Amino acid sequence: ARRRLVAGNWKMNGARATLGELSAIALAAQQAGNVDVAIALPATLIAPAGAAAPGLTIGAQDVHAAPSGAHTGCLSVAMIAEAGAQFSIVGHSERRADNHETDAQVKAKAEALRGGGLRAILCVGETLAERDAGQAEAVVAGQLTGSLPAGAAADWLSIAYEPVWAIGTGRTPTVADVASMHAAIRATLRTLIGPEADAMRLLYGGSVTGDNAAELLGAGDVDGALVGGASLSAAKFVPIIEAAV
Ligand code: 13P
Repeated sequence: ARRRLVAGNWKMNGARATLGELSAIALAAQQAGNVDVAIALPATLIAPAGAAAPGLTIGAQDVHAAPSGAHTGCLSVAMIAEAGAQFSIVGHSERRADNHETDAQVKAKAEALRGGGLRAILCVGETLAERDAGQAEAVVAGQLTGSLPAGAAADWLSIAYEPVWAIGTGRTPTVADVASMHAAIRATLRTLIGPEADAMRLLYGGSVTGDNAAELLGAGDVDGALVGGASLSAAKFVPIIEAAV
């Protein structure tokens, strides 16, 4: 069976003053035992998080694919690793939209993470217009095919399905829609990487809360959650961890 993974994404939120939330999350993660917990932080908080929340898996929200060079404002895999990151999110829809990231770039970032010995959470997901046009599964299969890194394997890579229209909106797909998309993702993965697909964790993301986590985590082929807003406070995030146990 696949061990569940509950990951938080703080996006552009948080400061040293809010690291106490991480300490409380780390404690809950330790007590939960049977579930993996990880938090993707703003780069400025990665190093201080190590001291505030020892034992908690900390990661970045993005990384550059190149090892070094003239890329103003960007961070390499070695840089985030030196700060204490053990993984990074790649291909989040906010970066695909705001920074025009392509599948090829997302793939290169994931491959750079693997090269540096870090793990990755690769995000895919359709827009509302694409869903309304009946294209959701085709769009997600296309993103997956275009951005799946070489060497994709369950020990370092997870996939997060995040429908763009469910992010930060309080709207979620039905449990049946989540289950059918996750089954479609797993089927696409099987064609791309064979039986390794059955070991890979598929996370659902988009307006996950303590109230809906148990239901969403109970959907077929859902192996965890990627949580934005509700990961910012221990009071909101810990119930999601507990729902995953
Ligand atoms: P919300 O949980 O705030 O909807 O964000 C989801 C997300 O984008 C996590 O990466």
